[in-house]
Amino acid sequence: MSDYIKRDDVIDILLSDKVDMSPAFVGVANVLGNLAQFEVYNDACDNHIDLVNKLPASNVVELKIGKWLQKQIRGDTYPVCSVCLSQAWDEENYCPNCGARMEE
Ligand SMILES: [Zn+2]
Repeated sequence: MSDYIKRDDVIDILLSDKVDMSPAFVGVANVLGNLAQFEVYNDACDNHIDLVNKLPASNVVELKIGKWLQKQIRGDTYPVCSVCLSQAWDEENYCPNCGARMEE
């Protein structure tokens, strides 16, 4: 079974891992003589982002998860899908209108 992950999530992680090259940081790194290694690290992060952006998209459907809400109609109570807000007759495991999987 394959695992599917969101491209934007991966890119956000890679971006957050980059070293913040603020002027103060660059000044300290220059004094310590290790600025080049941080630049190489950030370049590697950028290269990884480029590679992630080149990956082809997988053909998957995002799983919708909802729950049954209760709606009063003329004195009777009916289940309503929290995702699509359509009324159903019974609380099934899946919404018959949008296909959302219902949590208990
Ligand atoms: Zn629904």
